[in-house]
Amino acid sequence: SVALPVLTEGKKQPFDAGEAPLLVKELNESFRAGRTRSYEWRVSQLKGIEKMVEEREKDISEALYKDLSKPEFEAFVSEIAAVKSSCNEALKELKQWMKPEKAKTSTTAYPSSAEIVYEPLGAVLVISTWNYPFLLSIDPVIGAIAAGNAVVLKPSEIAPATSSLLSKLFEEYLDSSAVRVVEGAVPETAALLEQKWDKIFYTGSPRVGRIVMTAAAKHLTPVVLELGGKCPVVVDSDVDLQVTVRRIIAGKWQLNNGQACISVDYIITTKDFAPKLINALRNGIEEFFGADPMESKYISRIVSSNHFSRLERLLDEYKVFNKIVFGGQRNKKKLKISPTIFLDVPEDSQLMQEEIFGPLLPIITVENVKDSIDLINSKPKPLVAYLFTNNQKLRNDFVQNVSSGGMVINDTVLHVCIHLFHNTHIYKIRLVKFCIMCSLRCRLSHISQIDCKLGFQILQVTVSNLPFGGVGESGMGSYHGKHSFDAFSHKKAVLYRSFSGDSPVRYPPYTPANKKL
Ligand code: NAD
Repeated sequence: SVALPVLTEGKKQPFDAGEAPLLVKELNESFRAGRTRSYEWRVSQLKGIEKMVEEREKDISEALYKDLSKPEFEAFVSEIAAVKSSCNEALKELKQWMKPEKAKTSTTAYPSSAEIVYEPLGAVLVISTWNYPFLLSIDPVIGAIAAGNAVVLKPSEIAPATSSLLSKLFEEYLDSSAVRVVEGAVPETAALLEQKWDKIFYTGSPRVGRIVMTAAAKHLTPVVLELGGKCPVVVDSDVDLQVTVRRIIAGKWQLNNGQACISVDYIITTKDFAPKLINALRNGIEEFFGADPMESKYISRIVSSNHFSRLERLLDEYKVFNKIVFGGQRNKKKLKISPTIFLDVPEDSQLMQEEIFGPLLPIITVENVKDSIDLINSKPKPLVAYLFTNNQKLRNDFVQNVSSGGMVINDTVLHVCIHLFHNTHIYKIRLVKFCIMCSLRCRLSHISQIDCKLGFQILQVTVSNLPFGGVGESGMGSYHGKHSFDAFSHKKAVLYRSFSGDSPVRYPPYTPANKKL
C-alpha cells in the first residue's frame, strides 16, 4: 500500500467544526492515492477491528454500561459478538465480494464480454445513534472499509462513554489516514454534512434523516438512511401462546428495554383474544424479570432524562384514561420505567402516533385479525412487521399486502441479530453450537463464564443473508453482510470489445448500400 503522511495524526479532541474541510481533504488524498483500495489494506483494517474488540471487550462493555446500564451479557451478544461476527464474515468473504461478476452481453455487441466491477466510492460519512452505540457505529464502518473506502464515523453524543471510547480505539487500532472518528453533537454533525462526501450512511430518526438527505442533495451524494417507525406485531388467536409471548417480550423489553428500532412498538389482536394475551404477557414478564421488574438487572435503563420525560408524558396521559393494564412504575432518579401495557388507547393518541422507543406497549384490538393489514397500511411504512399465526392464508396475505422494511413471521428481531432466551438448562451444548455456527472464534471458557454468571443460554442465531433496511418513512438502502459491501460500492458496468466484427450497420450514412452486411 502507498505510504502517506498522516496530516492530522495526534490532533486533540474535541473536533473543531472549522476543520471539517481539511478532514475531508485528507481522506480524499488517502483515497485517491489508492491507499484504501487494496485487498491487503482492507484486511488489515478489518483485522484491526477484530483485534480491538478482542483486546478491549471489557472497556466496551463498561462504556455500554455507563451509557445505558446495558446488562453485560446483552452487551456482549447484541453488540460485541455481533461486531465480531460481522467482521469475521467480511474477512472470510471479502475476496469473493471483491471479484467482478460476469454479465451477459447482447448479440448487437458481439463479440464481447461484460462484467460488473465493484468500485469503492471514495470518502464516506457514517453518522450513528445511541441505542446500540457500538454495533451501529462499527457495523457500517466494516462495510465501508470492506468496500475500500476512506471513512469518518460520527457516533452519537447521547452515548458519550461509547463515543469517546470509539474515538480512542480507532486511533489506536486503525489507519488514521483513512479511518477517523469525529465526536460531537449537532454543530459538529452539521459541519460534516456541509462537506462533499461520496456516501452518507445515517442511522437515527426520520426527522434528522430529512436533514441529512437535504444536506446530501446539495452535492448529489447518495444516502443510506436507517430510520425508525412503529413496528407492529399482529397476534392471531390460533398461536402457541407461551412461545408467542416469550418472543414478544424478547422483542420488546429484553431488547434494550424497547429502545431499539426493530423493537415491538404495538400489538394488534382480536377483542376476544386480548385478555388471554395480556395475562400470558404478565406471566412471561414475571418469569423473565421477576415480580418487580424495576429491580431486574436484566433490563436496561432509559438512555437520558430527556427520553425519560418523553416517555413519562406518554405514561401520564394514559394513566388518566385508565388504559394501563400492567406496569406503569417509574423511577426518575434511576431513569427506569417498568414494562407497561396499555389496552385500546385511541388511534389518534400520541402513543399510537409516535414511535415509542421505550418500555411502553399499547395493544389495539380489532374485530377480525385480517383487519390488522388495513390498520398497518394506514400508517407510515414500518421498519419491520411481525405476525404470529398458524393460518397459512393470513400469513400469505400479510406478506403480500403489508409493506415494511423487513418481516418476521412467528418471531421477533431474529432477522437481524443474535437472539437470547433465559433458561439455565443444557446451556453448554447450546453454547458450543453457537460458537461454531457464528464462527465467533470466542474462547468457550469465556462464554461459559458469562453464562454461569448470568444463567443465559443462546437458542438461536440468525441467518445473515437478509438485507436490513427500511422502506418509505423507515428509511432507504440496506446493509449487513454482503449488502453492507454493496451499500458502499459502485457497481461499475464494464463491456470489453475487440476490434474485430466491426459491422457498418451501426454507422451513418443510413443508406441501403451501407446496410448490406
Ligand atoms: P440520536 O439523537 O443519537 O441521533 C442520531 C445521530 O444524528 C447522532 O449522531 C446525532 O448527533 C445526529 N443528529 C441529531 N440531531 C441532528 C441534527 N439536527 N443535525 C444533524 N445531525 C443530528 O438518535 P435518535 O435520532 O434519537 O435515534 C432514535 C431513532 O433512530 C429512532 O427513530 C430509531 O428507530 C432509529 N434507529 C434506527 C435504526 C436502524 O437501524 N434503522 C437503529 C437504531 C435507531
